[in-house]
Amino acid sequence: MSIFKTCPRCDTDLPSDATSCPCGWKSRVEPKTQQRELVPCAHMDCPTPAIANVKTPTGWANLCKDHLLQRHNEEARKWCHDRGLFTIEQKLAYIRSVLPAIRAKGLSPRIPGEDDA
Ligand SMILES: [Zn+2]
Ligand SMILES: [Zn+2]
Repeated sequence: MSIFKTCPRCDTDLPSDATSCPCGWKSRVEPKTQQRELVPCAHMDCPTPAIANVKTPTGWANLCKDHLLQRHNEEARKWCHDRGLFTIEQKLAYIRSVLPAIRAKGLSPRIPGEDDA
């Protein structure tokens, strides 16, 4: 695709997204309708356009804002449930139990035992 187009009235080269020319020519297409192509959300039947591309166990997926948030929440919930942490108290106790070890390791973000089977 050329990055230039020619004014149909005076043959001046114009940027391809130009909608008017100094000679007075005006495209009938309003700039508002020339939106970028929207990327659909990976969730079927989701009408919201995707805003992020995230890595999933099966590959990359485009997700809209709501599904992105939902995914983060699900991951956090799953992470806690995998460790038997269901209540706020349990979660806080867990954080307190791992914090000294994290500090000892020099603020490493990895939680000890995280990927132990
Ligand atoms: Zn022109
Ligand atoms: Zn969605």
